[in-house]
Amino acid sequence: MEKIAIIGTGYVGLVTGTCFAELGNKVICVDSDIEKINSLISGEIPIYEPGLSALVKKNIKRKRLFFSSEIKKAVRFASIIFIAVGTPSDKKGAADLSAVESVSTEIARYMKSYKLVVEKSTVPVETGRWVEDTLHTFKKKKVKFDIASNPEFLREGCAIKDFMQPNRIVIGVQTKKAENILRKLYKPFKAPIVVTDIKSAEIIKHASNSFLSMKISFINTISKICDLCGADIKQVAEGMGLDKRIGKEFLNAGIGYGGFCFPKDLAAFIHIAESLGYSAEMLKVIAKVNQDQKKIFIDKIKSTLWNLNNKTIGILGIAFKPNTDDIRMAPSLDIIKILQKEGVKIKAYDPKATDKAKKVLNGVEFCKDPYEVANGSDCLAIVTEWDEFKKMNLKKIKRLLKQPIIIDGRNIFEPDVMVKLGFRYVCMGRR
Ligand code: NAD
Repeated sequence: MEKIAIIGTGYVGLVTGTCFAELGNKVICVDSDIEKINSLISGEIPIYEPGLSALVKKNIKRKRLFFSSEIKKAVRFASIIFIAVGTPSDKKGAADLSAVESVSTEIARYMKSYKLVVEKSTVPVETGRWVEDTLHTFKKKKVKFDIASNPEFLREGCAIKDFMQPNRIVIGVQTKKAENILRKLYKPFKAPIVVTDIKSAEIIKHASNSFLSMKISFINTISKICDLCGADIKQVAEGMGLDKRIGKEFLNAGIGYGGFCFPKDLAAFIHIAESLGYSAEMLKVIAKVNQDQKKIFIDKIKSTLWNLNNKTIGILGIAFKPNTDDIRMAPSLDIIKILQKEGVKIKAYDPKATDKAKKVLNGVEFCKDPYEVANGSDCLAIVTEWDEFKKMNLKKIKRLLKQPIIIDGRNIFEPDVMVKLGFRYVCMGRR
């Protein structure tokens, strides 16, 4: 059993802390957002993540999981401290590391005995050195410490499974002691452990996310070619994906990726390369293709509805992907805003993200289900591939729409089935 502190109790911090507690460790999760901490203490989970609520409650009850807004308390309690604060993009696309810096300064201030300080947040290469310098500069006692990089690869929507059954665990360290502590902590996990230097671990995270983004932008490029020549992207992706060197995952054509990882991590990686004197053209193209996908989707809407002014479009899905309430950098936000500028009235529904969407979107009529969205709309636009949409009563949807048009940005239906049902069905890279 280890004593662990997690600083930053968001999507990653809360899942990490809860899963370590579930494995028998004693964990204190800290956040500067006092409201968030108070709701967690009272057993309320501030995010939607399948299975998380029950696991948090169970571990609070078993007195293995605690919450606090005081870093001091956590630093004094724990021997392993994970930094899991946000690292959003700044105006230039670089990672804003101010939260990492301020947390490092505070950890330094309260260290009284040996600590292993671990970067869990996604950070640019060489952040480890900055954290180390900061700890040295601000520590008040003559205490020893180690730093490590342990990037997180979980996906929102299946975060607990991803955390508990990872493909691999990456540990970037500078000392055998740090390696041994993390090896012991991760012993219950049945996954290969890749031990590297800290810089390589930092790069592994950015390189992995950029590679996955590339697969999505690649298949979207092929999808455009399929649109132009009349081939079917689903068949093409299947034929490609069965090649083990390529793999089937991340070959779903659509309106592109969003969320708090791929767009910001790719932008940060481009920036990192630039700051090292290298213009990473390949990474830039991935981002451009992704941005263009939204335009392609809107063009499909335009070329189906003709004039957009005063039309009503029903948006299905606001979260950046299914099974999460996260709307950070979701394609839906840009799409809705662009359509509104064209004079479109927006009705929208998302199974879990509506509350968050209400805080950032103006002039949208939020609905209680897909049928209310369809009622009186000129078309439905599918933006997130929630299972609920795949199971909709399409005959009812058809009756409710002003005209039976579905523009599907996620290819969730079969075109010939939709045509048989009497829809005008427009999707991505197939007819
Ligand atoms: P998040 O915004 O959900 O959580 C970050 C938390 O840190 C927030 O609750 C915030 O209040 C807290 N915080 C900010 N400054 C703080 C401070 N000074 N002291 C204490 N708490 C502070 O973000 P997230 O999605 O959990 O991402 C965290 C990091 O993990 C990012 O670097 C991200 O790129 C990375 N990551 C995210 C995912 C994902 O799927 N969300 C996956 C892998 C890695």
